[in-house]
Formats: sequence, C-alpha cells, structure tokens
Amino acid sequence: MAKRDYYEILGVSKGAAADEIKKAYRKIAIKFHPDKNPDDPTAEDKFKEAAEAYEVLSNQDKRARYDRFGHQGVNGGGNGSMNMEDIFSQFGDIFGGGQGSPFGDFFGGGRGNGRRVRKGTNLRIKLKLDLEEVANGVEKKIKVKRYVACNGCSGNGSKNGASLQTCTTCQGSGQVRKVVNTMLGQMVSTNTCPTCEGEGQKVTQKCDICHGEGRELKEEVISINVPAGVADGMQLSMSGKGNVPERGGVAGDLLIQIEEELHPFLKRDGNNIVFDQYISFVEATLGANIEVPTIEGKVKIKIDPGTQGGKILRLRGKGIKDINGYGKGDQLIHINVWTPKHVSSEERDILEKLRDSDNFTPHPSKHEKGFFEKMKEYFG
Ligand SMILES: [Zn+2]
Ligand SMILES: [Zn+2]
Repeated sequence: MAKRDYYEILGVSKGAAADEIKKAYRKIAIKFHPDKNPDDPTAEDKFKEAAEAYEVLSNQDKRARYDRFGHQGVNGGGNGSMNMEDIFSQFGDIFGGGQGSPFGDFFGGGRGNGRRVRKGTNLRIKLKLDLEEVANGVEKKIKVKRYVACNGCSGNGSKNGASLQTCTTCQGSGQVRKVVNTMLGQMVSTNTCPTCEGEGQKVTQKCDICHGEGRELKEEVISINVPAGVADGMQLSMSGKGNVPERGGVAGDLLIQIEEELHPFLKRDGNNIVFDQYISFVEATLGANIEVPTIEGKVKIKIDPGTQGGKILRLRGKGIKDINGYGKGDQLIHINVWTPKHVSSEERDILEKLRDSDNFTPHPSKHEKGFFEKMKEYFG
C-alpha cells in the first residue's frame, strides 16, 4: 500500500510551522483515538498513520530528509509504523500531561505510565582530600556498597535468568485503562497496572540469590579520578556508578562530594597557597637564606637585608592547578617579623644601646616619605 503524504495526513501545508503541525496532530489524535472509537476499526489505522506523520514532521532532521527524499528518506520505504506504546509515550510532549489538562488524564499524560527505562537511585559519598591531592589531582580508590545486577539471573529476577511472563492483567503494556463517565461523555483514564506495577511482565519463579529483586548489594572498589583544583563542597559525578534499579534498567550515578582537609600550615586562597613565615628582626635586618615548605617540598628563599614585616614574596607556579586548565596559582609568603617577648639582661643591654641608634628608628624609604612627613606635621 502506497503511503500517503505526511503533510496531507495532518492536513497542513509544506511550509507549516512546528506549532501548527503539533496542533493539527493533536486534533487528529483526539478524533481517532482508539479508545474513543471502539466501533470503528479504521480509527486505529488513522491514529497510527497520524502518529507516524507527526513523528517525522516534528523532528527537524527527519522532516528535512522527508522533504528531500520522501518516505525513502525517513524509514527506507519499509513499514515504519509505530507501536501503540511509542505513540502514547509521545503524548507527554503534545498534551503536556499536567494537571488541569483534560488530555493529561485522557491519554495518561505520558508520564509514569507504560514501560520505560527505569533509572536506579544515585549514591552519594564524601571524599576527603588533602591539599597535595587537591593541588595536583589524584586517583582515589574507594570502597562503595551499591546495588548491581544479580549474577544468578543477570538482573531480571527470574530463576536462572529464565525469560519473564507477560503480565496477563495489562497484556504487557504496563498500563490499564479505565472508562469513566463524565459530563463530557465517556473518558478513558490510563493507570499503571497494579499487577505488574507498570513493568508489563512478571517473575514466575524467583531467582534464589536475589529473591526476584534482580539485584544485590555488593561492595565494589571504584576508582575516582579527581581533577586538580577541586574545592571543598564541589560535587563530582560518575554516571552509571550508582544503584541498579530492581529487575533491570539503568544504574543511577555516583555523586562524590569533595571535602578538603586543612593543611597544618599551608592555607589555600583560591588557586594560591598562603604561608606565614616568621623571621627574627635580626634576620630582617641582616638578611637570611631560609627554607619554606610548599606542596612540592621545601624551597630555599632569600630574605633581603632590610626586609619589612608585611612583605609578600611570591613563588610563581607553586600553587594549585586551575580546575579549568588556566595554569597554576602561586605560593605567597607573608613575612612576619617576630618580636621577642622575653630578653636576658645581656640582650637588654645590647637592645638599649641599639634603641637610640638612628638606624633602628623607622626610616622612610622613597615611597614611604609622604607618610612619615605627614606624621611629623601631625605631631608637630
Ligand atoms: Zn501488568
Ligand atoms: Zn537474581
């Protein structure tokens, strides 16, 4: 039988907008819905024909191919008719399905009905990382208890994995329809089949290992690649490493929340590392060669003679790798001059001699001159 033109089926022009196509299909779907036309054997064919036309014309890519090559372009000219399940699953988009829409109830809304691929629950874990791991990224192996497909039945819950029996209540569709008399006439509501809970099939003899659940709780070692530069509170996700649902389907995700452990003396500030270095005022005065810790190990640095407290030295590239690949942060060394709290009498003698020395009173450098001059003015 030669196929009719899709535009003709929906009664729209070749240039029809997407919205127009949707409206036209909605009208036809309501008119020829098999539940509304139990006595008209041609209704179902018309209903299916319209669904197929809509399936192609509502998809930009398929519509373009249909426009160029005709039926050959979209289904090879073969029998591309859709099954009822596909058609009903389309309705969620077309009728919105939500509350207040008469079509939602009428066609079951396309939500939560019928057999569709089920997704298991997500698993959440916390992952503690130290600063070195945050800075460079790390591969962590973590033990996780998750539901995986049962080995004894390959996940379908049936003894030795034998095939399941089609549910006799819903004939495998996973839904049951109920005719309700309303003011508008007879309406059909579609509900999830109570016998099979929408699965469309039943386990007749349960698997010994999982007792029909199709899954078992197993401890698994999962290797997590943590990129460099993550921060406390960030969440990584590994798709398919969560729980498998009962009797088959797609596993949920593993959601990994990052917890950053505080380093005893290196502080993180964005991608920079901040370190407080204390030096004596003698070192500050005479200069010194000292060693400072970094996340890559000890580094020698030079304190220039006459270094003031509050100076910040920068070690370029000794910080944390940026998570988006924008290079690396620095390590900032904050210089603090340590003031002794106790001195011996000999030390006191030396310091008292130094106190009156001109070199030991605060001395303006070029850029500090304005500050010191204003202070002089203030105190007179
Ligand atoms: Zn059923
Ligand atoms: Zn099993």
